[in-house]
Amino acid sequence: MKTIKVHDKEFSLYLRSEEIQETVKNVAEQIKNDMEGKNPLFLIVLNGAFMFAADLFKYMNFPCDISFVKLSSYIGTKTTSVVRELIGLDEVLHDRSVVIIEDIIDTGITMGVTREKLKKLEAEEVKIATLLFKPDAFKMNYEIDYVGMKIPNDFIVGYGLDYDGHGRNFPDIYKIIES
Ligand code: 5GP
Ligand code: MG
Repeated sequence: MKTIKVHDKEFSLYLRSEEIQETVKNVAEQIKNDMEGKNPLFLIVLNGAFMFAADLFKYMNFPCDISFVKLSSYIGTKTTSVVRELIGLDEVLHDRSVVIIEDIIDTGITMGVTREKLKKLEAEEVKIATLLFKPDAFKMNYEIDYVGMKIPNDFIVGYGLDYDGHGRNFPDIYKIIES
């Protein structure tokens, strides 16, 4: 089986590019069915979702806006808690159909924060699309509207997903080999 090394860790091939593309096409089809004709705003969450998004939009050729956001994390000055701000959002969301595009949802906390921030901006609807979902790790109780694939609770890299900054630039997805 094909393995790769990223920093100090070994990973084995988990999802081949062909299988990922089938999944992406399937997600695109579902989103298209719901969103075509609504002039939706797609918000791609950087960095991880860049490759998923690039492929996804090749299968969705209807009028829409595409924008990129990022969740910045920093330690608040007055408390020790992590403050998360959504940065890069220039669009007016009022009365629009918004679809958040994520690479992976694990505990769901990151998406929970993003979703809450967007809901305050009075969008008509806020939908969530993720390529990968780890149901066994999910701690939240909101609905994920479009899921490419459910996966076990293992750490993966490739196709946009990194381990400590590296590994995003593989067309396949690899799973960590626990040693
Ligand atoms: P959550 O807040 O849902 O626990 O985590 C979401 C974020 O954690 C993702 O956007 C991603 O950045 C990171 N993450 C979660 N699981 C994995 C994984 O298996 N591999 C990588 N590379 N990142 C992950
Ligand atoms: Mg992400």
